[in-house]
Amino acid sequence: MAAAAREENGDTMSLFTRMPKIDHLLVVAAIGVAEKRTSGEIRVVIARRLAADPVAAARNEFERLGMTRTRQRNGVLIYLAPRSRTFAVIGDTAIHDRCGGPFWRDLAAAMTGHFQRGDFTGGLVHGINRAGALLAEHFPRTAGDQDELPNKVEETD
Ligand code: CA
Ligand code: CA
Repeated sequence: MAAAAREENGDTMSLFTRMPKIDHLLVVAAIGVAEKRTSGEIRVVIARRLAADPVAAARNEFERLGMTRTRQRNGVLIYLAPRSRTFAVIGDTAIHDRCGGPFWRDLAAAMTGHFQRGDFTGGLVHGINRAGALLAEHFPRTAGDQDELPNKVEETD
């Protein structure tokens, strides 16, 4: 149900003691473009604190944001904790059923390199683009599609 990656890179941790700048407008724009192709709903959460267990944190956020309430159960959450250089991708049940393991690996691969370089905006945009393309294969957008989850970046502690 999830992909997670962690970068063990103690040398450069000091560079990330403060929250990096992430361009919310670019991320939101990418979500809008991706959702033009699919009925799937993509959201992004950025954690200000260190996240020891990004998958568990992402699951909590998924519930808290009501992401299990999409009609087709096809919400995807990208949870990023820049300060600990970790992230997790969580998807609802229908994504798990139809897309399988490659979906998560493909998505994680699209983001990991960017995050390693500290390019958090680029990583999110690439991940969202990739999620949109993958979701479109299994959940094409149909006429009358509703924006079931707001296209915005959520920041949490
Ligand atoms: Ca939609
Ligand atoms: Ca949306």
